[in-house]
Amino acid sequence: MDPDYSHKRQYMKFMTDRSVSCRYAMFDRHGGASTGFFAAFNSSYGVGDDDFAVTENRMRIKETLGLDFLVSARQVHGDHIYCLKERPAADHEVDGYDALLTNLPNIGIMIQHADCQAVLLYDPNRQVIGAVHCGWRGSVQDILGKTVKTMTEVFNSRPADILAAISPSLGPCCSEFVNHARELPAAFQSFLVRQNHFDFWRISRDQLTASGLYASSITISGVCTSCSTDYFSYRRSIRSGGDPTGRNCTVAALGMGK
Ligand SMILES: [Zn+2]
Repeated sequence: MDPDYSHKRQYMKFMTDRSVSCRYAMFDRHGGASTGFFAAFNSSYGVGDDDFAVTENRMRIKETLGLDFLVSARQVHGDHIYCLKERPAADHEVDGYDALLTNLPNIGIMIQHADCQAVLLYDPNRQVIGAVHCGWRGSVQDILGKTVKTMTEVFNSRPADILAAISPSLGPCCSEFVNHARELPAAFQSFLVRQNHFDFWRISRDQLTASGLYASSITISGVCTSCSTDYFSYRRSIRSGGDPTGRNCTVAALGMGK
């Protein structure tokens, strides 16, 4: 881990009234091996960055969290949920999923995002974690509700036990949707904060509480990736002329680490 930047990372552990048995990190863009538009901690192979640099960044993620392997997804803004129940033999990326669940210790499940939310879920009773990629299309599809439901069906979780953390992502300050009448359901109108601007942090919180989580179990980072230059931001790259941009990464793992 690069000590010069570790203080900038939101690196914490889900606290429970039992033992602490899950750790997670919401990485900012500093302290990585990528250069140019992708400087420096780009986690994604799919955005035009040098593969060697991305692999080095992913190694640093594994070192930081003490992971055996890292499992991620080529995300598609859909609502498919991948349940990892057998121990992998290597790092790998599954295709076409936007949520990952596992009950295996020391396997990092990672979301790649630049303005979209990464939402981490942890059930300390059943020892299950989830990582969800949730942009506005995910909110429209209620991928959070579907992921909680899958935790109950596949891992016997009780929603009231589940803790959640929402990563740095597009804040209500920058969530402008000029086509909202066409793109967003009418129910989202109650999350309108000013003309064409919606509070997707509150939408996620409400979808989670509608799924049975306690509001007090949900932590919202509150950092807007479009405002803060410490994070990659798709919206900010568009504002600056459409330059490519990297992806932030948010990772969770079960267990105490090495
Ligand atoms: Zn903002």
